[in-house]
Amino acid sequence: MTNPTENTEKNDFIRTIVRDDLANNKHEKIVTRFPPEPNGYLHLGHVKSICLNFGLAKEFGGLCNLRFDDTNPNAEDQEYVDNIKDDVRWLGFDWAGDVHYASNYFAQLYQWAVQLIEQGDAYVDLQTPEQIRENRGNFAKVGKNSPYRDASVAENLARFDDMKNGKFNNGEAVLRAKIDMASPNMNLRDPVIYRVMHSSHHQTGDAWCIYPMYDYAHPLSDAIEGVTHSVCTLEFEDHRPFYDWVIEKIGFKKQPHQYEFARLNVNHILTSKRKLKKLVDDNLVTGWDDPRMPTIAGMRRRGYTPQGLLDFCDRVGVSKADGVVDFNLLEFSIRNALEDTTNRAMAVLNPLKVTIVNFNEAVAKVEILKKPTVKTRLDKDNNILWLTQPKNSHDESQGMRDIPFTATIFIDKNDYNQNPPNGYKRLSPTNSEIRLRNSYVLKIEQAITDDNGEVVELIATIDPKTLGNNPEGRKVKGVIHWVSASCGIPATVRLYEQLFNQEDPAKVDLENLAQEINPNSLTTVNAVVEPSLLHASPGDRFQFEREGFFVADCQDFSKEHLVFNRIVGLKDGFK
Ligand code: ATP
Ligand code: MG
Repeated sequence: MTNPTENTEKNDFIRTIVRDDLANNKHEKIVTRFPPEPNGYLHLGHVKSICLNFGLAKEFGGLCNLRFDDTNPNAEDQEYVDNIKDDVRWLGFDWAGDVHYASNYFAQLYQWAVQLIEQGDAYVDLQTPEQIRENRGNFAKVGKNSPYRDASVAENLARFDDMKNGKFNNGEAVLRAKIDMASPNMNLRDPVIYRVMHSSHHQTGDAWCIYPMYDYAHPLSDAIEGVTHSVCTLEFEDHRPFYDWVIEKIGFKKQPHQYEFARLNVNHILTSKRKLKKLVDDNLVTGWDDPRMPTIAGMRRRGYTPQGLLDFCDRVGVSKADGVVDFNLLEFSIRNALEDTTNRAMAVLNPLKVTIVNFNEAVAKVEILKKPTVKTRLDKDNNILWLTQPKNSHDESQGMRDIPFTATIFIDKNDYNQNPPNGYKRLSPTNSEIRLRNSYVLKIEQAITDDNGEVVELIATIDPKTLGNNPEGRKVKGVIHWVSASCGIPATVRLYEQLFNQEDPAKVDLENLAQEINPNSLTTVNAVVEPSLLHASPGDRFQFEREGFFVADCQDFSKEHLVFNRIVGLKDGFK
């Protein structure tokens, strides 16, 4: 597969529109925006929106604003603002100028609401929330006009002023656009544009007790910022007529235009801030950055790279057709981005002790090897044979590492089977020879079992002539990884599976999230790793031979306690 992030020009219906608009001089320069509500952390779905909005600006020499759509103070928090900024930068994007906030425009939005009242395009409704809901009708039934709909402009101005001055309690009054209670589009049945909410706001404090609705604030924020292409997901298609209504009624000459694309859905992945927040609030995960979370913070801690995520978004593309993307494609992109850049290391996740009875005798002969393709050094007591190997076999410029080989080593329990099933290719009583990666050919002489018949140790020999050479007179199939038992370092390794086994976790109700979590989503094992990993730093990524890609955990890793998270396995499940 080619790498679409390299050189190829991207093409999709939005880019076609932008290209045409620039060619026809409809706009000299495009302006887009990424408009998150700071009511949670960003997730994989937002990555798609970020790639699209910032990507368009980058590709077409335009600007992309970061604007917080902060019109609902009850759900929002400064913590979310800070983390969203951090996540956007981590992905490699930067916004034009300062960060914008819809709340910066509250005074202006209020003035425009007054203008709408004066034009006879808005009125204060004093019906109860239940009455408003009831009188809105439904798809089968037209709505009923509010008794307050035809109040005079003067009355409406006075009531709106009272709303602003705190004379109403929450829910006692709303400002509504006056459009059409019989419209087949429910969004045009006199939508609410302002509500009373006696709440402090993370940006404006207690300056306001009325807050604009998203559908009113959003188009106007776009217009204020000179946004040309306001890109959002398909569920807002039915909101576009109101978007256009607002822009037109306020009288903007240069009008932003809204375009809708299909949201990103990936099987097994939950992309709803509300549900992700529930997982955090109920301690079902360790936090927003739990490596199992599909949040940017979680994926980052899991070891995913920005390049991997960008590559994934490019492969998914932008369209108007809703669909579900296979999770394996995400892992494919993540793996692809790690393949050539990560250093190799050996780690044994389920250690089984192997005693090499002819170790001293064999390594004493290391000097007499005909073609010692492996650089070696024997320590002064002849207990350790240091094997020098490149850190990254794809890229020797990364330097070399020394791997200690000793008389006792660990191999993985799964690499020996006393009663092998058909086709088993690793060690067994009938297939007793195998190559130790970077080292000698090993031959199992005896398996020691405990009272339950479980193999607890293997007694083995090595063929002294096989370091860097093929054995003579026979073929040895298979290579396994190993770690010195005396020099290896204990490490905690965390293995992950999907947080939800369900294809579509969006279908799981908020209350049932707990019982639907995959009990195997996290497995912690006590592993042994090669000592070169003592030099790792939090955030460093490695390919553990035969086990996958791993990252030194950003929070829990220290020289005293090595902790690695599995980023992704080696096997490609993508078809
Ligand atoms: P959630 O339902 O998780 O709260 P949201 O759409 O309410 O998501 P916002 O903070 O309003 O979250 O989203 C910011 C931008 O990201 C919006 O333009 C929205 O359309 C886009 N976005 C959100 N989810 C997805 C998704 N799954 N795929 C593509 N874009 C998305
Ligand atoms: Mg939203």
